[in-house]
Amino acid sequence: MSDWFITQNRTAFRKRFFPEATRQMWSDWRWQLRHRFRDATSLARVLHLSDSEQTALDRHTQAIPWAITPYYAALMDPENPLHPLRRTLVPTLAEHIVTPGESIDPLDETTAIVAPNLIRRHIDRVVLLTTDLCAGYCRYCTRSRLVGEGKPITWEPALAYITTHPEIRDVLISGGDPLLLSTNRLECLLKRLRAIPHVELIRIGSRMPLLVPMRVTRKLVGMLKPYHPLGLSLHATHPDELTPEAGASLERLADAGILLAGQTVLLAGINDDLETLRTLMRGLVRHRVRPYYLYQCDPISGSGHFRVPVSRGLTLMEGLVGHLSGYAVPRYVIDAPGGGGKIPIAPATLAGREGDDLLIKNHLGQFYRYPDPEIEGEKPC
Ligand code: SF4
Repeated sequence: MSDWFITQNRTAFRKRFFPEATRQMWSDWRWQLRHRFRDATSLARVLHLSDSEQTALDRHTQAIPWAITPYYAALMDPENPLHPLRRTLVPTLAEHIVTPGESIDPLDETTAIVAPNLIRRHIDRVVLLTTDLCAGYCRYCTRSRLVGEGKPITWEPALAYITTHPEIRDVLISGGDPLLLSTNRLECLLKRLRAIPHVELIRIGSRMPLLVPMRVTRKLVGMLKPYHPLGLSLHATHPDELTPEAGASLERLADAGILLAGQTVLLAGINDDLETLRTLMRGLVRHRVRPYYLYQCDPISGSGHFRVPVSRGLTLMEGLVGHLSGYAVPRYVIDAPGGGGKIPIAPATLAGREGDDLLIKNHLGQFYRYPDPEIEGEKPC
């Protein structure tokens, strides 16, 4: 579909379902948040709900709330409940089924809390939870136990902890979605973090540039610029999210010198086919986002219908490595349940050894030798 057609689609959606909204209102992220779909009746105006969606919405008592911005709803296929973007945000009955091995805190983040709202798993990195709100709630969210309550969050103890631990060099501002904070509030936080001499890198984890691209205003990027080195870990799920509006928001961030890294959760029926993944990864690079991680879906309660067998994930990776520019190939990782951190899972390329040669296999399954004589006294691997 051409960019022109996609934009026309959105305009038609606005005029039909929000006739009072001008283009300017539609392009205001706060308007988008205020007009989110949050009940079944209003969502049924724009999507033809399946029985599973309707019942899940009527009986919605799950820990994770739901909400969909008008912009993102306009990207969904109104007639197809299996449409990938629809499945990421619209609850279904499948999420009521808890399968063995699932839990509400599979990564055991609770035990890694070192100060209120501060998670520390590594010597040099911490995750700072700044809000529990998101523009939309992903049905597979690892923090579903925490998000959506709108509780006031204090940063002071976390900032004090970071200040007194000089080995911390990298702070990931997370949540919820930190880009839901006002620009002023986010700046206050960045200023405080930048004032800590040992904090070298600050990163923001967000889905907003794709869920509500209008959040990435010139004012926001102008505010972010003085706080380099600054990265943004972008939660990207499907190429349909890379609209002209989303593209423009990513361009603005990239032009401001922000390091953009893509993070994608591998999701059954959403992005677990080669064509979709290749298109997504290429699209991200086109918008100057380096695909960084492809996550195996965490075993969060009620997410079994999203999980893809790891063997399939590996096959998909084999279809990326060597077939896309290295810049476009993410690392496939499992965030180890119980808090073991991200463990890369890679297709086997080391085939063994013959004498002084290492046998290696390329992406086409062809074998090669690499001269790698063993050093005397050193144990062979
Ligand atoms: S945007 Fe992130 S924190 Fe919010 S629901 Fe989605 S995965 Fe969870």
